[in-house]
Amino acid sequence: MRLSRLSFGVFPRRGRRFWAVVTLVCCLVLGAESLWAGKSVALPWTDLLRRGVEIYQWSSLTDAQEVRLGQAIHRQLIGQEFAVYPDTVLTDYVTQVGERLLAGTSRTLPYTFTVVRSPQVNAFATMGGFVYVTTGLLGQVRNEAELAGVIGHEIGHITGRHVVKQMQQMAVAQGIATAAGLDSNRLTGLGLELALRRPRSREAEMDADRRALRYVLAAGYDPSGLLNFMRGLAGRPAPPSFLSTHPAPQERLAALAERVPPQAEPGFGLDEIAYRSAVQNRLP
Ligand SMILES: [Zn+2]
Repeated sequence: MRLSRLSFGVFPRRGRRFWAVVTLVCCLVLGAESLWAGKSVALPWTDLLRRGVEIYQWSSLTDAQEVRLGQAIHRQLIGQEFAVYPDTVLTDYVTQVGERLLAGTSRTLPYTFTVVRSPQVNAFATMGGFVYVTTGLLGQVRNEAELAGVIGHEIGHITGRHVVKQMQQMAVAQGIATAAGLDSNRLTGLGLELALRRPRSREAEMDADRRALRYVLAAGYDPSGLLNFMRGLAGRPAPPSFLSTHPAPQERLAALAERVPPQAEPGFGLDEIAYRSAVQNRLP
């Protein structure tokens, strides 16, 4: 079996002995799990081997592989789901806010910030460093500190590898990753669905919020921007999808507020007039 020639082409070349050891270990672990659970081992050894290979493939996904998968999802996202909003000044502005936040992160990836044309107030991210904000969101936020809070949350999903972990579980469950190779088209479709339509877990949302607060504080933004934005949207009858998932916005807000250091110096980014002149007259 030449795993180094998988169709998706993302796994490193290794010797035959290496893969033999990996698959043997996976089989033993899976077999032991079944026995431990008190079940007889009903799966044939070929299935155990396949599951072992799938789990190994996903657990060893490198940053470069994640970026390549993210690029494929990005191409489809801006080709089929959304149109890029073609204002380079606006994109540069959003990128600057994103890069200021990235200084506080420890995961180095080539990040790409994209403004998409949509009246929905929304932001989302996919694996490999791709972050999106809608023109609707840019029109809704009142200042740069609020925008930084939202972008920080999406960066938090990437640094926390939340999308990768969610995709790992679904790809193995749906049989998209098999010993015959990763089905890149189906993986890309799944990535798109995860970025736009599937809610993240409660733990992932809370983790992304905590990360956002850290990045905002490290960049010098006033944390009230993040809190006020969430507070404003949480009170609306239909909060946007990136806030409306479990847990409830009010619960997330309370958890965040607890973490703001009481002695924190006032940060920047609260100037609403400066924000409006930078962004709002460039929106559709
Ligand atoms: Zn989120």
